[in-house]
Amino acid sequence: MYTFKNFVSESIEPWSFKVQNLPDSSTRKKNKWVDFKAQKSPYILVKIGMTTKTVGTRLKEWENKCHHKLVNLGPMNRHLVLDQESSSVKALISGFLGLHITKQATSNDIAAYRRYKQEGFYCQENLDSVEKRIHQSLRHTYGAGDVYCKGCAPTTPTVKVKGGRAPFPVYNTHKEFFLIPKKDIDSIYELIDSICVKYG
Ligand SMILES: [Zn+2]
Repeated sequence: MYTFKNFVSESIEPWSFKVQNLPDSSTRKKNKWVDFKAQKSPYILVKIGMTTKTVGTRLKEWENKCHHKLVNLGPMNRHLVLDQESSSVKALISGFLGLHITKQATSNDIAAYRRYKQEGFYCQENLDSVEKRIHQSLRHTYGAGDVYCKGCAPTTPTVKVKGGRAPFPVYNTHKEFFLIPKKDIDSIYELIDSICVKYG
C-alpha cells in the first residue's frame, strides 16, 4: 500500500495534483478540478498493488516509470497519514485536565497483523485473486477513480487525446487508486491482512 510522497511530506518538487468531486467537495465545485490539499484533507489517495519482488524494489520500479516519488503506507508508516497535530493537542489538553489517556494498543500494533512483514502483506499463493478481492472490497466501500498522470505520459506527439477528461492533454491513466478517509487506515490494514490470511 503506497501513496505519492508529496501527499504526506512537505513538497519535495513542484507538484500540482487536482481532484474532482471528492466526497467533501461543495456543490459549487462539482465536476471542477481543484487542488488537492492532501495534508489538510480528511482523505488520502492510496494504491494497493501486488509484487513478487520486495516492496522496495516494486516501488522503485514504479517511481522510475512514473517520475513521482512514492512512499510506502504500510502500518509502519501510518503516522504519516494520521493527524499527528490533533493527537498531540489532545495529549496536551488531557495533560491540563490531569487526565491520563492510555494509548489504544489495537490495530496500530504492527505485530497484530498476521501477514505483515518486510514492509508488505504477504501471500503464499493466489496473489492475483487476493489483489482482486482487496480492490473489489475497497471499490465497494469507497468507489473508484482514475489518476491522470503527466509523469509517465506517452512521449510520442501523435498520442490521441482522450476526450479531454483530464485537466491536461497528454497523460497516462493509473487505475485502482482509492480515496480513503485517513481515519479508516487501520481498518484497511486489517482488511488486507485478513484477505491475505483467508485466500492467500
Ligand atoms: Zn504516472
